Amino acid sequence: MPSTFEELGLSEATLKALGELGYEEPTPIQDRTIRVLLEGADVIAQAQTGTGKTAAFALPIIEKIETTSRTPQALVLTPTRELAMQVAEAFHSYSKHHRISVLPVYGGQPIDRQLRALDRGVQVVVGTPGRVFDHIRRGTLQLGQVRTVVLDEADEMLDMGFIEDIEAILKATPYTRQTALFSATMPAPIVKLAQQYMHEPQRITVESEQKTLPQIRQVYYEVGRRDKFEVLARILDFEQPTSAIIFCRTKLEVDSLGERLTARAYPAETLHGDLNQTQRDRVMDRFRSGQVELLVATDVAARGLDIELVSHVINYDIPLDPDSYVHRIGRTGRAGRAGVAVTLVTPRERRLWDMIQRTTGSSLQRMRLPTIADVIARRREAFKETLREAIAQDGLEPYTILAESMSDEFSPTELAAAAFKLLLGPTPDETDDRLAEPEPMERDRGQRPEGKRRERNQMGPERGMTRLYIDVGREDGVRPGDLVGAIANEADIPGRSIGAIELYDHFSLVDVPSNQVKNVLNALKGTRIRNRKVTPSIAKPVRTRS
Ligand code: AMP
Repeated sequence: MPSTFEELGLSEATLKALGELGYEEPTPIQDRTIRVLLEGADVIAQAQTGTGKTAAFALPIIEKIETTSRTPQALVLTPTRELAMQVAEAFHSYSKHHRISVLPVYGGQPIDRQLRALDRGVQVVVGTPGRVFDHIRRGTLQLGQVRTVVLDEADEMLDMGFIEDIEAILKATPYTRQTALFSATMPAPIVKLAQQYMHEPQRITVESEQKTLPQIRQVYYEVGRRDKFEVLARILDFEQPTSAIIFCRTKLEVDSLGERLTARAYPAETLHGDLNQTQRDRVMDRFRSGQVELLVATDVAARGLDIELVSHVINYDIPLDPDSYVHRIGRTGRAGRAGVAVTLVTPRERRLWDMIQRTTGSSLQRMRLPTIADVIARRREAFKETLREAIAQDGLEPYTILAESMSDEFSPTELAAAAFKLLLGPTPDETDDRLAEPEPMERDRGQRPEGKRRERNQMGPERGMTRLYIDVGREDGVRPGDLVGAIANEADIPGRSIGAIELYDHFSLVDVPSNQVKNVLNALKGTRIRNRKVTPSIAKPVRTRS
């Protein structure tokens, strides 16, 4: 069993920051490394980007900073300026409740800005070896008080020809320092460097349990970080999962993805460590019974879930290590049923992904993103299947009579085509196929009328729906997902049964099924949405200006 962050011996301030970031438990590399670094030992850790290695070294450093002294106490060397900036940002977020100053130094940034910052005094320096060495030569960076040095992505630094700079920098730091080396691979020069400059380092590799994977189709998509949500939406349209678990890395990401999905008419429930047992049970009931098709979850929350009928596991965030990949995808393909595992991989995660594939021995298929045309084709196939089923069932009589009554006027093909048109809705414009644009995707979803957040009809709510007035709006920070979430949770009705939503600055209009009005009004009264107490009422039947 992995430890908790508490068990690793981290301070309250750090635990608080991690909680706010939505981290639920240490990743394997954090589990193994943090303890050892806190004890003061040197560490050689074999870890890829994406495994959580930054926190693995940053957290122990933060715990040990003497806040009263404003000289550099820790130095982190990274191969690139991007990584230096990222690591510095990570330090900032992890040390939110400590008072620690962190300075990234890298080539390309005006040196006088760095000089001024160094003059004011910093406690953690994160930089590329070239620029750090520059500062040492100029006498602008004093490393005499440095207690910890981290070589991050050491193999990359080696490839970039930084080895001499690194050695010179290490020589400029106290012999008694603690040294931690992180590297995805361990080529000979790195091993030699470690032998020369480290004191009895502990070697940490995160081994995989190597499980046999169930017989499921495993595919992945390479996506830009910013396109992830649109890609997910497209994949959902294409795959039409009957029941999918979507994994995110943190609680915050779970909440935010859940909201975005719901707002885009993909009814989703969310599951993470902050829910109490009752809430959890409610979510699981809705997912198990098929009221919602999508469950967005963290690894921790999904652990121990026993659900038989998961058609898809979607790794919205790539898992942090091979074991967690195996655990996640083991949620589908149960009881001999076919399952699909889909993973989204961003360019930065490619190496980690290669490692996961290698370690799990999975044969994974890289997929081309389905185009709108693919989605339409798939939808039509599904529609044909539905028609075949309808024909096979009884009860066509009344419709046959209707069709025959028009057979003098139109051919059977014309009649069927008109009926299909009405059922399927307008055909999306395939030339509009630009992922960044949400609009075509939204139109794309005509296939599932019950799940679609219908376009507001200017004349009023649809038949069978009643419009409610809720006295919170955009200015209160309310988003459509908040309203759907609150109504679905409090009144215990499926999110998909909620109709159009219109957000104004100080109020919102929401269509709910007329037979649920009483229930919704009672359930919502006095509850809080975005921390505002609400008083809902039936909206007056006046036309609103939009
Ligand atoms: P890294 O390997 O340090 O680049 O981290 C990869 C990603 O994992 C970053 O987005 C981190 O914010 C995130 N991360 C690191 N540790 C955890 C954790 N314990 N739980 C969830 N996410 C984490």
